[in-house]
Amino acid sequence: MSLREVEPPKEHASWYDFAAETIVLVRGYGDEADSFAHETGHHVHLKIFTPAQQVAWAAFWQAHRLEMPSRYGRQSAVEGFPELFSYWVRGKPIRPVLKQWLGECFG
Ligand SMILES: [Zn+2]
Repeated sequence: MSLREVEPPKEHASWYDFAAETIVLVRGYGDEADSFAHETGHHVHLKIFTPAQQVAWAAFWQAHRLEMPSRYGRQSAVEGFPELFSYWVRGKPIRPVLKQWLGECFG
């Protein structure tokens, strides 16, 4: 995984380039640590997780969608994991059931 920084203006604060396995951050656009954590979550979900873990996440997200820590994370399983991962690594409050799942996943 690599990191690239670009200058504004851009539509988004950051994005994950799946093919290049690269996190792209827009300088000075929002909280860069939050953006970096979110995009790292995409990398973990799409490149580190096994297929079985991806299936397990999709099922877990479906069952706990309404407990996800952000509105964006409640919209899809694909954005749900990066949002949860970001909250978790940044030490923001998340529901115990979500913290437990992450602990089991990475434990
Ligand atoms: Zn995302």
